[in-house]
Amino acid sequence: MVAEKSTEKNNITDIDVLAPTQEVIKEALEKLGYSSEMYDLLKEPLRMMTVKIPVRMDNGQVKVFTGYRAQHNDAVGPTKGGIRFHPNVNENEVKALSIWMSLKCGIVDLPYGGGKGGIICDPREMSFRELEALSRGYVRAISQIVGPTKDIPAPDVFTNSQIMAWMMDEYSRMDEFNSPGFITGKPLVLGGSHGRETATAKGVTIVIGEAAKRKGIELKGARVVIQGFGNAGSFLAKFMHEAGAKVIGISDAYGALHDPNGLDIEYLLDRRDSYGTVTKLFENTISNKELLELDCDILVPAAIENQITKENANDIKAKIVVEAANGPTTLEATKILTERGILLVPDVLASAGGVTVSYFEWVQNNQGYYWTEQEVEDRLEKVMVQSFANIYETSVNRNVNMRLAAYMVGVRKMAEASHFRGWV
Ligand code: GLU
Repeated sequence: MVAEKSTEKNNITDIDVLAPTQEVIKEALEKLGYSSEMYDLLKEPLRMMTVKIPVRMDNGQVKVFTGYRAQHNDAVGPTKGGIRFHPNVNENEVKALSIWMSLKCGIVDLPYGGGKGGIICDPREMSFRELEALSRGYVRAISQIVGPTKDIPAPDVFTNSQIMAWMMDEYSRMDEFNSPGFITGKPLVLGGSHGRETATAKGVTIVIGEAAKRKGIELKGARVVIQGFGNAGSFLAKFMHEAGAKVIGISDAYGALHDPNGLDIEYLLDRRDSYGTVTKLFENTISNKELLELDCDILVPAAIENQITKENANDIKAKIVVEAANGPTTLEATKILTERGILLVPDVLASAGGVTVSYFEWVQNNQGYYWTEQEVEDRLEKVMVQSFANIYETSVNRNVNMRLAAYMVGVRKMAEASHFRGWV
């Protein structure tokens, strides 16, 4: 196997994601006629907490982990966003991720601002017991600034419903109440919502359908390449396959698989591990770089940041690129793809299905009344179709690329709310 030692390590620490995010926020605010004071307020999170979490490891020694929680803007409502467990987590990344969450909440019109958390760790090398201790320790460390009406966490890269369950339990013990609304992405029996696990992929699927319509591409038979086989990538492969598309390429952190006749998605789903690793089972793999440049109709980066850059943007052959991951395309690459006539659906729109159903979960927790899977799906569909149309029209009417259009739509509500509150 051509083992590409982890695309996750590619560029991610050397390309800063915060500065380019701020650049687009600035441009969006200017286009909307806001002052530079508004930019000064929104360019960084309002709050950023760094914590140290001591965990007794299985070998008996204590390891001290570093974690973060960023709260970008709470003018609209409590902040909301996932927690990632990853070796490359860093301060600027968490800050940028919290800004992206604000934008997502604005785009799908939720009563939230954005937040994000991260812990520098590699959960693939940790035992279940160590992960539980780390999850509980993190909640204790950030407990002062989070809560069902302050900041509501959720899953992100390498965290899942089990981790949400431990975190909810830890918070509930401290709070001395059962507090399901503290966190979303929980198991169903603990107040999770139907459809939350598949929500990001469902949202991406709906957005792909809308983008394909605009580009005159028939989904049935369309050739799809998906980078990443985690929560978003694997369910997306399933939904694309069910929609009659041909998934000709997928990848994980260690390499990629390609079959121009379509991969056996059911088999791959069956064999993937809980971190989305599956390519290690195969001899004939290609690299993640080769995967992105495959001849296809729709390319979905669903892994991590900075995958499409100015180095490879000219070699992308897809007609539509849909960002299921957060931040997979750099600003230079966004320009190149747009100039080449490729329809780029930005992350803050494409991946907003996750937080949308998280909101549904929180509403159900607050009401103590639970919805059916069909109710969740119907509402999600409506939100994603409307949000896509809104951004597509803004992009056409204002003659700006889809990323800038998404930022313009996403930033408006929090700027208005900050203004009404008298902050700026
Ligand atoms: N981590 C997901 C995201 O980046 C979901 C956040 C949430 O559900 O609150 O959108």
